[in-house]
Amino acid sequence: MNNTLLLRPQLELAKLPTPLDRVENLGKSLGNLDLWFKRDDLTGFGLGGNKVRSLEYLAADAMKLNSNILITGGSPGSNHVRTTMAAAAHLGLRGVAVLSGNQPSKTNGNLLLDHILDAQLVFTGNPDRSNIDNYIVEEAERLRGKGENPYMIRRGGVSSLGCIGYVSAAVEICSQLKNLNLSPEILVCATGCGVTQAGLLVGFKLMGLNCRLYGITVSRTRDECISHIEQLVNETEDALGLDSRVTSDEIFVFDEYIGEGYSVPTSEGIDAIRLVARTEGIFLDPIYTGKAFSGLTDLIKKGFIDTDKTVIFLHTGGSPSIFSNSTIISNSNNLSDYVIDK
Ligand SMILES: *Cc1c(COP(=O)(O)O)cnc(C)c1O
Repeated sequence: MNNTLLLRPQLELAKLPTPLDRVENLGKSLGNLDLWFKRDDLTGFGLGGNKVRSLEYLAADAMKLNSNILITGGSPGSNHVRTTMAAAAHLGLRGVAVLSGNQPSKTNGNLLLDHILDAQLVFTGNPDRSNIDNYIVEEAERLRGKGENPYMIRRGGVSSLGCIGYVSAAVEICSQLKNLNLSPEILVCATGCGVTQAGLLVGFKLMGLNCRLYGITVSRTRDECISHIEQLVNETEDALGLDSRVTSDEIFVFDEYIGEGYSVPTSEGIDAIRLVARTEGIFLDPIYTGKAFSGLTDLIKKGFIDTDKTVIFLHTGGSPSIFSNSTIISNSNNLSDYVIDK
C-alpha cells in the first residue's frame, strides 16, 4: 500500500481532529438513540465543512505544480466553491469559479462569501449543473492560452485525491472511537458527489471498522450514486494501492429525501434543522445536512434503524445556505409529528 499518500500534506487548512460528540438531548427525542455527531462542520477553514478535507490534498497538489490559479465550479450556492476560493486567497493564488445559470438577483449565502473573497465568477447561463466540468475545462484552456497555469478541480472536488481526504477522516474517526471505547453500527451522512461516502468506505475497510455507511443523497438517484461511488472507491483504492476492496453491496444510499430537487429545501429538512438547533444548539443546513438528518429520523420511524443502535451523524457543514434560504425557512414552522416518543 502507498502509505505516503495518506499522510497529511504540509499544507494544513483544516483544524483536526474535529470533535466527535454525544448529542444526548437529540438522541432522547429520537427514542433514546445513542447518537453522536462528528463535527466536520468545524473543520475551521473558510467557514468549514467537509470540502476542506479534500481541498488540503488538492491545493497541495496545485502548489506542487506551481499553479497560479485555482479553478472550480458548481451552483452559485456551492460550499465547495466557497472553500476553494478561500483556499486560493489563503495561498496567494487567483480563484476562478464557474457557476451554473445566470447571476442571481440576490448575492447572499456562499455567493456573497465568494464576492468577499474577490473570486472571479463566470456564469455559464445554463442552469444544468451536470456539465459544469466541461465549462471548467473550457475556461481553464482559455486561461492557459493567456499564459496562466490554472489548477482544475472538478465540481465537488471529485477525484481520488479528494477522496483521500475522507480516507484519512476515517482513520481519525477510528482513533476517536478507540479512545471512547465506542462501536457504532451505523454512520449517516449527506451524499452529493459521493467523495465523502467513497472516502469513508475505503477508510473503514482499510481500518477494519465494521460500521455501515448510510448515504442520504440530495440530488442523484440511488442507482446513479452507487455506480458513481463505486467508481470513486475503485480509483481511490488503486491510488492507495490497497488490496482490500469495498464491494458494491456495501454501498448504501437512500434517495427518498431529495424532495423537489437539489438545492430545494424540504419541509422535513427544515423541521430537522429546527429540532437539532432546539435540542443541541447546533445548526444544520437546508441543502445537505437537514435533508440527511430528516432521512435518519425517517429511517428510525420506519424501523430501518433500531433505537438500540449506536449511530454517528456526520455533520458536513453548509451553514451559509441557511441565510440564502431565509424566506422558505422562516415561513415553515411545523415541528409537529417530529419527536419520536418511546
Ligand atoms: C458537498 C457537501 C456534501 C456532500 O459531500 P459529497 O462528498 O459531495 O458527497 C454534504 N454536505 C455539505 C454541507 C456539502 O457541502
